[in-house]
Amino acid sequence: MLTDNLDRVKERIADACRRSGRDPSKVTLVAVSKTKPEADILELYKAGQRDFGENYIQELRKKHDDLPKDIRWHMIGHLQRNKVKYIAEYVNIIHSVDTFELAQTIEKEAAKYNRVIPVLIEVNAAEEESKFGVKCKDASALAEKISTLPHVSLKGFMTSAPLVDNPEDDRIYFKKLSNLSVDINSKNYNNVTVDVLSMGMSNDFEVAVEEGSTMVRVGTCIFGKRDYSNS
Ligand SMILES: *Cc1c(COP(=O)(O)O)cnc(C)c1O
Repeated sequence: MLTDNLDRVKERIADACRRSGRDPSKVTLVAVSKTKPEADILELYKAGQRDFGENYIQELRKKHDDLPKDIRWHMIGHLQRNKVKYIAEYVNIIHSVDTFELAQTIEKEAAKYNRVIPVLIEVNAAEEESKFGVKCKDASALAEKISTLPHVSLKGFMTSAPLVDNPEDDRIYFKKLSNLSVDINSKNYNNVTVDVLSMGMSNDFEVAVEEGSTMVRVGTCIFGKRDYSNS
């Protein structure tokens, strides 16, 4: 059942790539497994899925401890500085960096493990009150500062577009993120080249792919609705 959902999402990504002349191998599907049981993750793992996204540190730690070690864990939720130490050893990429202070903490923790942690700057492209992330106009300054950190590797940008009835309404925000990448690359900060755009969720991933997304974060379309009643 879950693997059928996974296949269906992959087909829809491939269709969006076809429409926009893109190569589907350039789009990583991150299965967002927050609140979902380990058995669900294992089922998809057996079908070949390796990229999983989580929002909560405690849950991420437990799943990392219990599940196969070649899973690539994506931290996609808001991250508090005092929690970085719990994931620094193994996290594949952190999508949600929105302050230089957080990046500095990641630098410190990554250095302890002698590794470089890939990160994305979270951008609040629609400037919604309820959301974390920097404004588009502040992204460049933060990128320049992060580019100086030796154990943090800036790979690109992440955004969560507004929840809308018509996904076409989010296209402008995906375009903004894409323009931001072009802009940063033209500045050549410490030789940093960004090529990751983490954008597109269950309700809007096809539009995001058409606008150049290289990582879509899909939960509900794969795992079904989330139940938060026990948390
Ligand atoms: C929960 C979550 C997702 C997945 O959302 P769906 O609508 O279930 O696909 C993607 N990105 C972030 C940052 C999330 O918190």
